[in-house]
Amino acid sequence: MHNSLMTSAQFPDELPAEDPQAIADALQRPLHDLRISVLDQCNFRCPYCMPEAEFHSDYAFLKRQQRLTYDEIVRVATAACKLGVSKIRLTGGEPLLDKNIAVLVERLAKLPGVDDLALTTNGVLLSAAAEKLAKAGLHRVTVSLDSVDEKVFRAMSGGRGDLAQVFAGIAAAEDAGLGPVKINVVVQKGVNDHTIIDLLRHFRGSGTIVRLIEFMDVGNRNGWRMNQVVPSRELLTKIQQQWPLRPVGRNYPGEVARRYEYVDGAGEIGFISSVTEPFCGDCSRARLSADGMLYTCLFANQGTDLRKSLRNGAVDDELQGILSSIWLQRADRYSELRSPELAEHHVLQKVEMYRMGG
Ligand code: SAM
Ligand code: SF4
Ligand code: SF4
Repeated sequence: MHNSLMTSAQFPDELPAEDPQAIADALQRPLHDLRISVLDQCNFRCPYCMPEAEFHSDYAFLKRQQRLTYDEIVRVATAACKLGVSKIRLTGGEPLLDKNIAVLVERLAKLPGVDDLALTTNGVLLSAAAEKLAKAGLHRVTVSLDSVDEKVFRAMSGGRGDLAQVFAGIAAAEDAGLGPVKINVVVQKGVNDHTIIDLLRHFRGSGTIVRLIEFMDVGNRNGWRMNQVVPSRELLTKIQQQWPLRPVGRNYPGEVARRYEYVDGAGEIGFISSVTEPFCGDCSRARLSADGMLYTCLFANQGTDLRKSLRNGAVDDELQGILSSIWLQRADRYSELRSPELAEHHVLQKVEMYRMGG
């Protein structure tokens, strides 16, 4: 266990702060990415993430004092950057529900070592926020959009928002220089898989990069079933029949999407195949939840309470020591070991994605 009882005396010489390369986990994976969930609330109720029946009007979301302050988030991010993090993504819940998020963006953008600062949003509040975020130093945005068919879109957002708002958000982000925008599409069999070709047609040639994500068994509340997963391979074959594609190399080690480009030059798409083709081997991501828990895997059932350490007065070296110690011990590879049967029966307790940050 890592907790606030750890003192700097326990980590005197093991901080490779001068050499970020030295931080590698038990499976030799470096720490490169930090995903920060700024709040657990959301204005959508996507059934695969926050089903309405569970997340109803009196659901107890975190209270303000339970959430990390910006100062606390920046302290954790600073320590993480010293250990090798160069990519930071703000997520949630819905990060744009935080009206002051540009202030946090501005502070994170100034951290030494951060060369990629991104944000994932459902896009509904993006048109109003894009310019401010870009001015604050955000580099790019990913917009989650599961269908361009209004009915299917509404079914997958839990009846919230409308397509026109999301399209306006994407356009505003491009105009503000936050492009190329990436579009995350969770593909669920029998729900939106029949609308994928239309969605690709909509974005082909626009410079926007669509990424098709296999429905994952994150958390325990989304009723995940293996038979609702559309394997990326199947989808690829179907898309190829419409528009020939060819593979493109990775942008950087640890990139989760397998990239393809349209042979006719209409742009790029990606597949994120966590279920059928796991990529734990080079997973370099840590996640910080809105209440300050640090998780080393999207499917974790426990994390480390950094808020406790922060509020008990841990100094920067101690914080860095705690992070370093967690990462050095990390051996997560859930997707490589996944048993669909255990996942369907919720045998393992897992932290929900809206809380941990997607
Ligand atoms: N609310 C923001 C949004 O939707 O973009 C940010 C948080 S959301 C948890 C981050 C990403 O996780 C979204 O792209 C969403 O589609 C994805 N996601 C959530 N539940 C998922 C699941 N069960 N399987 C695959 N992706 C999921
Ligand atoms: Fe909200 Fe994003 Fe989860 Fe949908 S996927 S419920 S938009 S946090
Ligand atoms: Fe990384 Fe865990 Fe996903 Fe594997 S299952 S890629 S270790 S987050």
